[in-house]
Amino acid sequence: MTINDYKFAGKKAIVRVDFNVPLDENGKITDDTRIRGALPTLKKVLDEGGSLIIMSHMGKPKGKVNPKMSLSQIKDAVAEKLGTPVIFVDDCMKADAQAAALKPGEVILLENLRFYPEEEGKPVGIDKEDPAYDEAKKAMKASQKDFAKHLASYADCYVMDAFGTAHRKHASTAVIADYFDADNKMLGLLMEKEVQAVDNVLSDIKRPFVAIMGGSKVSSKIGIIENLLGKVDKLILCGGMTYTFMKAHGGEIGNSIVELDKLDVALGVEELAKKNGVELVLASDSIIADKFANDAQQKICPSNAIPEGWEGLDVGPETQERFKAAIRDAKTILWNGPAGVFEFDNFCAGSRAVGDAVAEATANGAFSLVGGGDSVACVHKFGLEDKVSYISTGGGALLEAIEGKVLPGIAAIKG
Ligand code: AMP
Repeated sequence: MTINDYKFAGKKAIVRVDFNVPLDENGKITDDTRIRGALPTLKKVLDEGGSLIIMSHMGKPKGKVNPKMSLSQIKDAVAEKLGTPVIFVDDCMKADAQAAALKPGEVILLENLRFYPEEEGKPVGIDKEDPAYDEAKKAMKASQKDFAKHLASYADCYVMDAFGTAHRKHASTAVIADYFDADNKMLGLLMEKEVQAVDNVLSDIKRPFVAIMGGSKVSSKIGIIENLLGKVDKLILCGGMTYTFMKAHGGEIGNSIVELDKLDVALGVEELAKKNGVELVLASDSIIADKFANDAQQKICPSNAIPEGWEGLDVGPETQERFKAAIRDAKTILWNGPAGVFEFDNFCAGSRAVGDAVAEATANGAFSLVGGGDSVACVHKFGLEDKVSYISTGGGALLEAIEGKVLPGIAAIKG
């Protein structure tokens, strides 16, 4: 079923959204992008005369109740954005009466699903090495099914709209779909948009295709990097991972962030790039700092000749120009991860240069997809929201989708 074909009038829809929004120490939302992302689906259900049971996770409470991660903190914001009151149920397994009484136009918000270990389906309090682990996992998988079935019992139909967690086979993102027939389960509007954006990048690629991968570590992105080497024309690798590449060639990197056990991985990436004819672009110069702080002293030096006591926190001016030149004529762009420690205003020039070049290429007709929490934060910091083609709400999910993996949250609906 598709959301545009479904008739929500008189139906109760249980909708998995991603309301995992950042909160400050007073429980105030600091970035409501994810809530806004879910609104089109939620409003569609209400506008058509349906009712809503909204479910989400927040943070990593690891199967235990934790008031700091209670969705009650965002109830008022959700009500305000939907323009209607929200009934908050403080235990997601105890909403039977409220769900049964739900009338068209009414909204229930369930408490954080991850207060129950069944949501993620991982046994808690037992080590993976423990001989009893496999048994515990089997038992947990069984109770995960019961948990999902209980959630399903609240509603007539299921809508999956949490792209950020679509790469997880959790109770609410995948298992629950087993308890609805094909005519009563569907992807939400946000999911459809995200899937379309990935499709724009992967099918009928307009070339040159340039990917920019930044962030702190090679290890967390190696899967996607290797995969992209089979697709892109140019791959820009920046951020902290620069120094693992420099070190792999015997460079001096001072105190820069490095993964010493990944030097061979870095060399493997270079080899694969050469074999596939992909132009690999690394930072030749760096902006270095005498401490990890915005007010650190700074200097510019070659990325492979960083003095002791100094660390590379951003790409240097020569590299910024090289990155811009590499991005400028692109027709397809994927950007994941900042070029430097962009959170520090004094070390965000590299990320800004990348953002500006992506915006320029987009203005010249490129399709640009930006995803992963930090690059999205960059786009906001530099005010480029309207100058890139699509900002994904997914980090890991986006990368797995680009790798061509079938996301469990999508497979559960589409089979
Ligand atoms: P990731 O979560 O792997 O995408 O990494 C994002 C983080 O990488 C951001 O918080 C950046 O501040 C950080 N980062 C980027 N460049 C560097 C660098 N040269 N040294 C240390 N951290 C960095």
